[in-house]
Amino acid sequence: MAEKITGYCVKCKKKNTEMKDPKLVSLKAKGGTSRKAVTGNCVHCDTKMFRFVAQDYELPR
Ligand SMILES: [Zn+2]
Repeated sequence: MAEKITGYCVKCKKKNTEMKDPKLVSLKAKGGTSRKAVTGNCVHCDTKMFRFVAQDYELPR
């Protein structure tokens, strides 16, 4: 059972929009810490989407 990665699409103005080709990225934050996020593209309009996730988050395979 593959878990879908969803986020808010600014163009569709819809929450829980599915991301295609989700990728995990690490972002530098203040104080030398890093935050994890997932980026992908909206399945409907191909706009880039972005969502912060927990530090121990792993993409479902
Ligand atoms: Zn969209």
